[in-house]
Amino acid sequence: MSELVEYDAQHCFHPFSNYHDLNRKGSRMIERAEGVYIFDEHGHQILDGMSGLWCVNLGYSCQPLIEAATKQLSELPYYNLFFQTSHPPAARLAKLLAEVTPEGMNHVFFTGSGSECNDTVVRMVRYYWNNLGKTNKKTIIARKNAYHGSTIAGASLGGMEFMHKQTGCLVPDIVHIDQPYAFGEYDGDDIQAFGLERARQLEAKILELGEDNVAAFIAEPIQGAGGVIIPPESYWPEIQRICDKYEILLVADEVICGFGRTGEWFASQTYNIRPDLLCMAKGITSGYLPLGGVMVRDEVAQVLKDANSEFAHGFTYSGHPAACAVAIANIEEMQKQHIIPTLKESIIPYFADKWQQLAQHPLVGEARSKGMVGAIELVRDKASKERYSKELEVGMMCRENCIASGLVMRAVGDTMIVSPPLIITKQEIDLLVERATLALDKTLANL
Ligand SMILES: *Cc1c(COP(=O)(O)O)cnc(C)c1O
Repeated sequence: MSELVEYDAQHCFHPFSNYHDLNRKGSRMIERAEGVYIFDEHGHQILDGMSGLWCVNLGYSCQPLIEAATKQLSELPYYNLFFQTSHPPAARLAKLLAEVTPEGMNHVFFTGSGSECNDTVVRMVRYYWNNLGKTNKKTIIARKNAYHGSTIAGASLGGMEFMHKQTGCLVPDIVHIDQPYAFGEYDGDDIQAFGLERARQLEAKILELGEDNVAAFIAEPIQGAGGVIIPPESYWPEIQRICDKYEILLVADEVICGFGRTGEWFASQTYNIRPDLLCMAKGITSGYLPLGGVMVRDEVAQVLKDANSEFAHGFTYSGHPAACAVAIANIEEMQKQHIIPTLKESIIPYFADKWQQLAQHPLVGEARSKGMVGAIELVRDKASKERYSKELEVGMMCRENCIASGLVMRAVGDTMIVSPPLIITKQEIDLLVERATLALDKTLANL
């Protein structure tokens, strides 16, 4: 163990880690990065198939983002948006976000992270309905196996059972319906019917609770941390219909999907949905500095503006100037580099095709992708989708083999997922799939 790994093991608690294992094995020190590659302390080059944590969309060497941060830090390193003050980067970014987010969304509430966005959602939707005199409209419907962050409200909205168990005191009036996970939870061959059935659970839940008691439905357009769960095409139109029919606010958690991940600025555009609130973080700054924001639809914003009371909510780092400056540079750079047209015309179809080839591997039961996220399901038997026994931890085994082959691919149980930087080239996609194949071969040999 190097000196640094020892300091880390002795003093640093890590997010979502088993401290027993961590202290025994030590952490992998990532020392520097360049383009789509990270380098560990031994100089190993690793292709970052996860863009850090789904955030480094423009890769690790985007000079304009670094310059924007540096310039802002020397002009105004900190000020806040409380008590009727503002600063130029927040005002400029708010204007720019109104332009790139879906039609009819022209107001933003800045936060410091995705979790803080979802805390804001819980408070904002209840504040909204209170102001309309519908004080019973409190319950928020979310989905099992969703990820909405790790604050108490984020974990409560999320549908991760292992998190609920550790959280103990969950936020009341949050309920969960099933996810549209066809590979894992459906045996038939009419995927569209399955999508409709899962969407209609929302309607059933609203009827069960009573429309007058339901405030909002929240979901990730594509579930990320849950295992890149791509809904059937039938799913979202039905959800939209139900939200409209029963006057339920639709909240799109686009913390992963936003800023080009699905080949449009936002997945709400990809799936043609009309959210009332839209959560952003991660790719908003390509991860260079922490920032989040909740976009608010005009009709909802109007109610908040008409309310003659204070919305008693906000964070010290809501709209941090340097983070806002980086977000502006990030959006401008996406435009200058034609990221979205390039993805749509060339990179996404190429990635989809290459990724699909992994389905031929004997260990892979399904390969799926949408935009620049992909998943493969590791199985013992391709035809029956039978899994390996849990104790074998095949996903973890595969993840370790990926690292050894020079690739970061994440394991969610026995589902392997990727979300590469949006600047990835065709050659780098070839390399990603080549290294993934190598890791799959090794994993099969281990088994
Ligand atoms: C990562 C994530 C969050 C939480 O964001 P943090 O910045 O880690 O608080 C919320 N929602 C989704 C969909 C995410 O992927």
